[in-house]
Amino acid sequence: MEKKNLDWEHIGFNYHKTDYRYVAEYKDGVWGEGKLTGEADIVLNECANILQYSQQVFEGLKAYTTADGHIVTFRPDQNAKRMAGSARFMEMPAPSEEMFLEAVDQVVRANAAWVPPYGTGATLYLRPYLFGTNPVIGVKPASEFQFRLFCTPVGPYFRGGAKPLTLCVSDYDRAAPHGTGHVKASLNYAMSLHAYVEAHARGYDENLFLDAASRTMVEETGGANFVFVTKDGELVIPQSDSILPSITRRSLVEVARDYLGLTVTERPVSLAELPYFAEAGLCGTAAVISPVGKVVDHGREICFPSGMEKMGPVLQQVYDLLTGMQMGTVEAPAGWIRTIL
Ligand SMILES: *Cc1c(COP(=O)(O)O)cnc(C)c1O
Repeated sequence: MEKKNLDWEHIGFNYHKTDYRYVAEYKDGVWGEGKLTGEADIVLNECANILQYSQQVFEGLKAYTTADGHIVTFRPDQNAKRMAGSARFMEMPAPSEEMFLEAVDQVVRANAAWVPPYGTGATLYLRPYLFGTNPVIGVKPASEFQFRLFCTPVGPYFRGGAKPLTLCVSDYDRAAPHGTGHVKASLNYAMSLHAYVEAHARGYDENLFLDAASRTMVEETGGANFVFVTKDGELVIPQSDSILPSITRRSLVEVARDYLGLTVTERPVSLAELPYFAEAGLCGTAAVISPVGKVVDHGREICFPSGMEKMGPVLQQVYDLLTGMQMGTVEAPAGWIRTIL
């Protein structure tokens, strides 16, 4: 199979229209047969629920070319399960795990020429999503839905190594207690855009959102979970019902415990204790771990000892193991790697 002629190292994190995507329709209480299509545009009624009331949930995962030339995905069953949970909360029918995995396999196989070669740092990003399609004007859930999955090659998240980020403590809230913070829905992103644009305009890379009720506890950024390392080399993961359960974070917890023998504590973390940590990072599918060098809280700078040049040593070890598993150079726990080709 001939690869597409792309400058893989420099494609950035942008949408490229690939050859095939998967689509399945839900109607009259049942999912129809899913299929691949070459058509990237979607035609919807003007009153479709997604356009008026934002009934949508999504996932994000990647396909990787391994060192020995296979194409694999990382824990796609976890994405299927999380989408089912998100869909339940949003009053939508979820595709079965089997259907979800079938969509992943079919799209990756059909677009194998778009999967970046090993060693380029680039990967194939997969975006499964589910949304209400039929017209609704009175507020209620849709009765017809589409489950789709498209893919786009994305470049290495950090070219020339991961430079630590500078975050600002946001005056906006990402998620309310008992709200949708734990659900992977586009609506959580829509309301984070203003905060994101403002933070960027002020020179920050990302927002650190606090819990909306007390505004004292660390939640997450717009699209990645936090992980901290204490001066004793212990991993600390902020805990809250309004944090989105990152699969990268859950995976790195297991890797830190079982491969590195580190102590991992999942507990509420207050903003006040940030100055006592040795390392901080953000985790998610896009970058795996992005180091955080500095958090600015209304002019007060909290600088982590790991500095502004590189990732801290403990997070670097976790990062190397996790990316090694994705690239096939480190043996992963059973069931984590799904070989597609
Ligand atoms: C998707 C997402 C993450 C990261 O989850 P992964 O499964 O690791 O990619 C973190 N926070 C939010 C709000 C998200 O939507």
